[in-house]
Amino acid sequence: MTRPTHVRIDREQGFMEIEWADGTRGRCTLRELRMACPCALCVKQRETQQETGFPPLYPPQAFQLSHAELVGNYAINLIWADGHSQGIYQWEYLRSLCQPIPETEAAAGTPNESV
Ligand SMILES: [Zn+2]
Repeated sequence: MTRPTHVRIDREQGFMEIEWADGTRGRCTLRELRMACPCALCVKQRETQQETGFPPLYPPQAFQLSHAELVGNYAINLIWADGHSQGIYQWEYLRSLCQPIPETEAAAGTPNESV
């Protein structure tokens, strides 16, 4: 079963980083997450956009995360600064959505006082 051991949200840089139980890590931007919101409303909205070809209109707050809550042990609920809170992101979904971070870059994340 796909489960994270650690979830880190960087609001300033605007991304979420997930460390999975198998030791791999993934990262997505908050913008990507909001654009992929799995709630019924957003799914419907994206379908309509595909039909009409009009790009979605989001206020800037739509890509700012207000807070995040775990849902049982299978998902995380992201609550956005514009008040949108219906998105329940299952781990499986996040795993497919977030780009894996290459090992080399992950290792480079450890500070090594070389400045
Ligand atoms: Zn949504």
